[in-house]
Amino acid sequence: MPRALITGVSGQTGSYLAENLLARGWEVHGVQREDTRDPIVPAPVTVHQADLADFPATAAVVAAVAPDTLFNLAALSSVAASWQKPIETALLNGAAVANLLDAVSALPPADSGALRGFVQASSAELFGAADESPQTESTPIRPVNPYGASKAYGHALVGAYRAAGLRASSVILYNHESPRRPEAFVTRKITAGVARITRGEQDELVLGNLDARRDWGWAPDYAEALALVGDSDFASDYIVATGESHTIRDFVAAAFSAAGIDEWEHLVRVDPAFVRPVDATELRGDSSRLRNALGWSPTKGFAEVVAAMVSHDLGQS
Ligand code: GDP
Repeated sequence: MPRALITGVSGQTGSYLAENLLARGWEVHGVQREDTRDPIVPAPVTVHQADLADFPATAAVVAAVAPDTLFNLAALSSVAASWQKPIETALLNGAAVANLLDAVSALPPADSGALRGFVQASSAELFGAADESPQTESTPIRPVNPYGASKAYGHALVGAYRAAGLRASSVILYNHESPRRPEAFVTRKITAGVARITRGEQDELVLGNLDARRDWGWAPDYAEALALVGDSDFASDYIVATGESHTIRDFVAAAFSAAGIDEWEHLVRVDPAFVRPVDATELRGDSSRLRNALGWSPTKGFAEVVAAMVSHDLGQS
């Protein structure tokens, strides 16, 4: 039974990944910052508490668990917040990756004789100012915010450790959503807001840039991609994306429509406070490498992701 260690196990994608690996028969350990167990973490997971910014404490967890594969999903994950906390972002999303790669490299060989693995949750924000769409694994890296810059460092470092012999993959995740997304992200802000408007608990949705385009997928599908990569003997960089992009406005329209509201323009207001100083305009990914190498494909498209989130927020599922 392979053993996994997931950092960020109490986050949206970490919790889905834990469920996925348990279903595959893995022994799953997780690291979380808080000292109380988050109810989102499935019961069979052994939880270790460490702040990823505490490098010796985190390295001690890696040494104690000695995972066959470490999945690094811990991050300061909000692009907007990364402008308020650029140094914490660099530390958690950048330097902590160096600490984890170093800790995994220091482990003795696994009993199975297989190479230890490292799977980095990388991000479409690597390509912030991309002048090509869809992006591929070869698209030039051009972050436009502190979050993207920190992820670019982690991504590059994973490539360096792979070249040096570690089974290290960087999985470039495009936006992936679910009812477990916090409202700091626009999709959940929209679906939870639409549900409250429907119930008469909120008057309007106050948003930022409605013209940005994102490639939104279903978070459990992205957890499946991480699991497939962690389970594979072959390490590489892999884009995980649906290949379709939609504007924030499209998402708003689809969410109101899923709630049975066709006239929604008067219910949405743009507030410059939510408009970012620089915003990646179109992030759309080509996941051909992952589809061809490991047979991955998304199970839900845009309309289904929106409908699933609205239905959850309306209490229908
Ligand atoms: P990101 O792509 O990882 O930054 O995910 P977000 O869900 O935070 O943002 C996606 C896009 O939605 C970005 O282009 C934002 O500029 C845009 N956006 C528009 N209004 C809002 C808002 O009120 N909150 C957030 N978080 N994003 C917004």
